[in-house]
Parts: sequence; structure tokens; C-alpha cells
Amino acid sequence: MVKTEAESREIAYALERLSRLMRGGEFGEGLNPAQWEALRFLARANRFSNSPGALTRYLGATKGTISQTVKALERKKLIVKSERPGEKRSIVLELTEAGHAMMAKDPWMALAAACGELGGKTRRRMDKGLAELLAGETARRQSPSFGACDSCRFWREQGRGDDALGPHLCMLFDLPISTTEVAQICIAHEPAN
Ligand code: SF4
Repeated sequence: MVKTEAESREIAYALERLSRLMRGGEFGEGLNPAQWEALRFLARANRFSNSPGALTRYLGATKGTISQTVKALERKKLIVKSERPGEKRSIVLELTEAGHAMMAKDPWMALAAACGELGGKTRRRMDKGLAELLAGETARRQSPSFGACDSCRFWREQGRGDDALGPHLCMLFDLPISTTEVAQICIAHEPAN
């Protein structure tokens, strides 16, 4: 019991130290950590989630802070803001070509590469363990899970007929989901189990 508690504390301390080190590395390329976080979210968000509101919920920041971050990314020509087609009061935020090029320099991708060098068993266990911790923490805080379609209760692998925008289906929005979109994250995601 005492050993389990000590090991658990060590994991929490390691996560805290690791995220602090990673944040420290997010001042390169003329960006700050908040701008990297926003850019990373928008690079992964699906078409129902690429908005200032979803970004605010994902980052758990205030509207004012997000507005400043969005303005800075626009000034740097890394994102563009536009009106959502058919919804006059809704804003879409998308990465520009320069924004996508910047994502190729994302400091967190160096950590992803380091994860790739771990043994397969260690990597799979970490993946599972971290996913469980994240799911527990988001549920406890009643925060959106921001998962991808294939782990969502509204996802259906088989869409309707041969819809060109498919082949999958979202039962919540009643809209087709493409193979590319399956890997993107969504504000309306609800865990399947
Ligand atoms: S299936 Fe779930 S995650 Fe995918 S678009 Fe629909 S609500 Fe979002």
C-alpha cells in the first residue's frame, strides 16, 4: 500500500515536471505556450470544433485570453478567421499554409518521437494508463472529453449508402464523417462505453 502510494506520487511528480519542461520549450519560433496550444488544438479539431468557443473550452481559459491568442495568431498569419457557411454569427478558425508549416516544428512532436523509441509494451501501457487518467480527470471536472470519432458513442462505422463525404456517420449531427475526420478531436465527443 505504502509502495503503491509512493509510486503513484512519483508518476504525478514526473508528469508535472515533464509538462513544465515541455512548456519551457514552447517559446521558440516567435510563439508562446498559449499560442502553441491554440495552434495544436486547431490543427486537430474537426469541423464542429474549430471555433473560438471550442478552443476556450479545450484550454479552460477565459474568453478574453483566447481572443488575444487568436488575434496574435492571425497577426502572425498562422490562422484565418471566417464566417461558418450558412451561420452568420458563427466563426471558423483554420490554419493557413504557414500554420501547418509551423506545426511541423511543434516541440511536443519531439516528445512523441521519444515515445516512439520506447519499447512497444511500455508504450502501450503508458498509452492505456494515461488515457484512463485523462478520462477520469475530465469526467471529475465535467469537462468535454475531446476524443476522436471512433471512440464516441455517436459514431457509426458504416454510413448511409455511398455518400461522397462518408463513409462513416455521426448520429448526433446526422452528418457523414470522412476517414480523415475520424482522427480529429471533437467538442461533442462522448465516450462510447
Ligand atoms: S461521432 Fe462523436 S466525435 Fe464524431 S463528430 Fe459526432 S459527436 Fe463528434
